[in-house]
Order: sequence, then C-alpha cells, then structure tokens
Amino acid sequence: MNATCKEKIAQALKVLQEEIVDKNYRVTLGFSHQNEDVIAIDLAQKAGVAFDVFTLDTQKLFQESLAYQKEIEAFFNIKIKSFSATKTQIYELETKVGETGIFEDIALRKECCYVRKIEPLKIALVGYDGWISGIRQAQSPTRAEVLLATFDAQFGLFKYNPLVYFSDADVSDYMQKNALPQNALYAKGFKSIGCKPCTRAVNADEDIRAGRWWWEAPQHKECGLHLQKKD
Ligand code: SF4
Repeated sequence: MNATCKEKIAQALKVLQEEIVDKNYRVTLGFSHQNEDVIAIDLAQKAGVAFDVFTLDTQKLFQESLAYQKEIEAFFNIKIKSFSATKTQIYELETKVGETGIFEDIALRKECCYVRKIEPLKIALVGYDGWISGIRQAQSPTRAEVLLATFDAQFGLFKYNPLVYFSDADVSDYMQKNALPQNALYAKGFKSIGCKPCTRAVNADEDIRAGRWWWEAPQHKECGLHLQKKD
C-alpha cells in the first residue's frame, strides 16, 4: 500500500468509527508496553471508541515495562487490567520447562507463551464483541497478511488492527507529533518489547523483530496471540 501516514490515520479512524462506534460494539484493547499500543489507544480515543484496556502479565516482564504501564495509565487517564496465568499453571509450566527449556525446544517455548499469554488472553477477551491490537504488516513475515478489520476465528470475536499499514517511520512520526510517552527500553536499543528472557536490544541495522526470540527462525517468531488464518 502506497499511502501517506495521514491517509493511513484517516483510514484507521474510519474503520474504528464504522466497525465499532457505529455498531455499538463492546471492545477491549491489548497493551503490550510498545509504541504501537499507545498509538492504538490514541487512535481509538480520537475515533470516539469506548474501550477497555488489558495487558498480559507473563510475570517475565521488564521493570521498565511495568513502570511504563503506570505512566500510560496516568497519561491517558485509563485503567489497564492485568491478566496472568494461575499459580498452578505457572508451577506446572516451570516444572516441565525448567530454566533453559524455552531456548532448547521450540515446542516448550511455545508452551510457555501459551500458558503465560494465550490462556490469560482467552479470559481477557470474554464478554467483548472485538479487540484492538497494535500489530503491523511491516513487523514481520508472519504479519504480512494482517487486515485492518477481520474476524478472529482463534478467539471468536472481531479484531481491529488500526496500525496495520504503518511503516516503522510512520510509528516514529506519530509518537513524536503527538508527544506520546515511550517505554524506556527503546532508548536502550530495543525495537520490539516482550518478556525479559526472550527479548534483547538490537543494532541500528537490525530488523525490528530481530531481538524477539532471536535464536529462532523468522517464521516461528510469534507467541500465538496474532496468528493469521490461512484460507
Ligand atoms: S515470550 Fe518467552 S518468557 Fe514470555 S511467555 Fe513466551 S516463552 Fe515465555
């Protein structure tokens, strides 16, 4: 898509208004401590969407991300509801995976993501007609077919991705022009932010998702939250 940032913003606002506001849908927005999430919050507020916000506390988050969450609550005057796996789920997972299992076996890494993210996500989405996420096509090959609005068959509700056509430069521009606060990890060389054991800072010339699960091939770099259904 060859559109200016302004056109992409207008398109995102139109979809949020037509697909959520006009239909009077009840929606929630996933906050994962990244630039894209605060842009999604900003766009949803500007579109006049009434929405809740949730985060998935994997209990493996960076201190910077936890501090940022509080900053964002104050900045937007919102409450971010936190969802986590149960103590029993975590105990059973840790018994199975151990200290290093996620780095040695992709199935164990995906199981960790499933228990710490997908199980709580299922609960976070209960009672809503749809959810808003900050994912973008440009982030990785696994997200190249993401649409602005779609039905999320995995979780059984609509999903809206207002930043879907934003480039890396569009994200930077939007953050700057709207003076939105950033997670302190960006200033430490992080380009994408996730759990502490699975996220590292990257060099300036490295891909935006290079620091996520860096020991895995690009086509595996998802936790299962944003799987795209292939027809
Ligand atoms: S990103 Fe890493 S620590 Fe976080 S849930 Fe997935 S495997 Fe576990």
